[in-house]
Amino acid sequence: MKKSRSDLATLLKTTQSALIVGHITPDGDSVGSSVALYHLFTGFGISTTLYSADPYPYNFMFIPGAEKVVYELPLIEPDFYVVVDAGSPQRTGEAIYQQMSVSRKPKIFFDHHVSYRDPGAFFDQVFLDDAAAATALLVHRFMKQHGYPMTREIAIAIYAAVMADTGGMRYNSTNREAFAVLSELVDFVEPWEIAAKIWEEVPHAQMRLLAEVIASIRLLAGGKAAVFEITRAQLDRYRLGPDHVDSFINYARAIAGVEVAMRFRELAPYRYKVSMRSKGNIDAAKISNEFGGGGHRNAAGFEFSGTFDEGCKLVEEIVARVAVR
Ligand code: 5GP
Ligand code: MN
Repeated sequence: MKKSRSDLATLLKTTQSALIVGHITPDGDSVGSSVALYHLFTGFGISTTLYSADPYPYNFMFIPGAEKVVYELPLIEPDFYVVVDAGSPQRTGEAIYQQMSVSRKPKIFFDHHVSYRDPGAFFDQVFLDDAAAATALLVHRFMKQHGYPMTREIAIAIYAAVMADTGGMRYNSTNREAFAVLSELVDFVEPWEIAAKIWEEVPHAQMRLLAEVIASIRLLAGGKAAVFEITRAQLDRYRLGPDHVDSFINYARAIAGVEVAMRFRELAPYRYKVSMRSKGNIDAAKISNEFGGGGHRNAAGFEFSGTFDEGCKLVEEIVARVAVR
């Protein structure tokens, strides 16, 4: 027999504790959506754990509440779980995914990814819309739907998340809802301050690595693909983490004629995290799905085993295949 499904609005009135988790190698939307919910839940008197398997990116730590994040799972199980922006429950991280898989506690999902097909099998309640420019906008819709009042802290978290996932309202996910919500939040936040925190407090070492990486971009497939590698040795040399190279791929995509940019970030010898950014025809999510990954039409990723040169061959193949369609 199917257990009766829990809904978040009821849980907020009837439970004492919650755990919120975003995805591995979290980005601004994952952090902002998590922190916004953290404030909402604590406002209801719920003892809330803000958990992440991987460190929050340095340039989103300014969001009030982000400092509450813990990287260890609490010993006591929460009354319910919330997963945000993860694409699938697996991408929350191994330990938390295992814990949720065996748990009978309610699980709630907020997401705007296309790749995960049957969230109802894992979650009790699903807030999913792949047309939303950011997961944080689904948090905003939930608050609106129930008439929960906006606060300055929640506004900063949502504003930062939307700015992050739309690249400052530039990506093709940018839409009327994103502008409307930001315009509403302007009553609570300083837009310039948030933009400056996200994009204009770059460590010098990151800029120096960027210069190195930009110089190394390879144009493939007759200029339709721009590819580069980030090695572990480079990150070690500059004492930087993955959060410092997240934005580099935009420079590769920005080159005229490039339809797809691919970043190969070395995880281990012969093992890469591949990030794809496309414009025009190339469906990055579809290609990433073929390699066991996922994402959105214009921003997706997967893991790749092989050398960087083999990766470049793969890119040539992918572009050749997509071009004849
Ligand atoms: P990024 O390149 O910034 O890591 O990810 C771009 C987009 O693709 C994000 O929406 C992210 O969630 C998704 N993505 C990246 N890697 C993976 C992956 O391995 N699996 C899935 N399902 N989605 C991914
Ligand atoms: Mn997102």
